[in-house]
Amino acid sequence: MTVDLAITGGRIVDQGQSREGDLLIADGVIAGVGAPGSAPSDTGEIIDAAGHLVIPGMIDVHVHTREPGWTHKEDITTCSQAAAAGGVTTIFGMPNLRPPTTTVETLREVLDLYAAKSVVDYNHNPAASNPDQIAGMAELGIAAYKIYMVVDTGREYPHPAGTGMHDHGHLLEMFETIAPTGLPFMVHPHDQGIMDLIEQRYWAAGDRSPEAYAKTLAAYDGVIWDTAIGVLLRIAEATECPLHIVHAQTSRSIEMIRQAKERGLRVSAEANHWTLFLGSWDDVTTLGPYALSYWVPDHHKEATWEALVDGTIDMANSDHAPHTREEKEVGWTDMWAAHTGTPGIQYQLPLLVDAVGKGQMSIERMVEVTSNAPARIFGLGQKGSFVPGVDADVTVIDPDLEWTITDEDVLSRIGWTPYAGRTIRGKVIRTLIRGRDVYRDGTVVGAPGFGKQARPTTRPENGV
Ligand SMILES: [Zn+2]
Repeated sequence: MTVDLAITGGRIVDQGQSREGDLLIADGVIAGVGAPGSAPSDTGEIIDAAGHLVIPGMIDVHVHTREPGWTHKEDITTCSQAAAAGGVTTIFGMPNLRPPTTTVETLREVLDLYAAKSVVDYNHNPAASNPDQIAGMAELGIAAYKIYMVVDTGREYPHPAGTGMHDHGHLLEMFETIAPTGLPFMVHPHDQGIMDLIEQRYWAAGDRSPEAYAKTLAAYDGVIWDTAIGVLLRIAEATECPLHIVHAQTSRSIEMIRQAKERGLRVSAEANHWTLFLGSWDDVTTLGPYALSYWVPDHHKEATWEALVDGTIDMANSDHAPHTREEKEVGWTDMWAAHTGTPGIQYQLPLLVDAVGKGQMSIERMVEVTSNAPARIFGLGQKGSFVPGVDADVTVIDPDLEWTITDEDVLSRIGWTPYAGRTIRGKVIRTLIRGRDVYRDGTVVGAPGFGKQARPTTRPENGV
């Protein structure tokens, strides 16, 4: 076997193990992990990674690329460039687009767009609202379905027609229809009835501030999320459909997920960057609309970190949600008129490396939650590890480099990040996909159209 590329002398972290060594790559796949100095003398190219971390590229299964329909915020190329710079090698896009991805036909069109424009490997989670479309969508090689547990009001954004579903009968029907595909159903948990009641009280008092918005979502210590997650877990148990819960961020719902896993339910969960890194009340008052997404009181943030470390929460995803400054600014006076969600794909992995340096989790667990687990749970056996034969998707990180995040670095079209001004330790130096550089020394070198669809190759293993 001829080794084309060896990444030598770094600390190789994968599947709970960490060792100094050489990562050997041939024909775009992992050829093996050897002791330091084991790269053959005729190796085509050597990357010296001494002092660096060498980890499987991050798989971010929750990304809003905004294309088609919202390309003034972001498109597949800018989003995937930000991903490459953030050490992310595979992204899953979300269906709240214009047109929304609710049919086999719209799904095919979106996949064609990625094929032409993505720098990194990709897949796309279509919305599951029409039982007739489910089997045909699976045939296009998707890895999961998505739905927002909100009332479908038929509006265009953020939850366009066909992407929101709050009726429990309809939810049950979709879980039943998805179950035979074996694919996970990714659900945004939300109790619309409770949200409506609480927000109207703030509005009646004339308060539409970011603080009011944050407190509405976190009312009664998280009842809007907890109620929804209770419903979802029960329906998932009834239908034996694999469930993936986004935005796990309250102590009670984490406890429910823990118990469901103990009972053998096929359930997985993700934590998102704002809970982990933007979680304080200070962030809400100083960054206002730029920090929201959601706010949860500190004890929930602590529970989320604990669950991410102990395995109750399986993965960390960005839920990268870019919006322009104009779409955010209005939020200072009317948060309900602002677009919610925050961008994060470029900085989540470095922020996690910084957290590892501060002792918040082990580096082995970080690799599990950013790569090993999403690959296993979404059936991407060809990704997310350094097992021989797996795609050589590799992120090289300098764990000691201290740097300050700035808006100028942002590759997302929007040109801002809620983390601007934050100094962290740990920087992505190089990102490779299938053995080829896509990001190197501060520059995205991967071309649009290089990315390939990451189809499931193994049985999804969430909760197993
Ligand atoms: Zn999202």
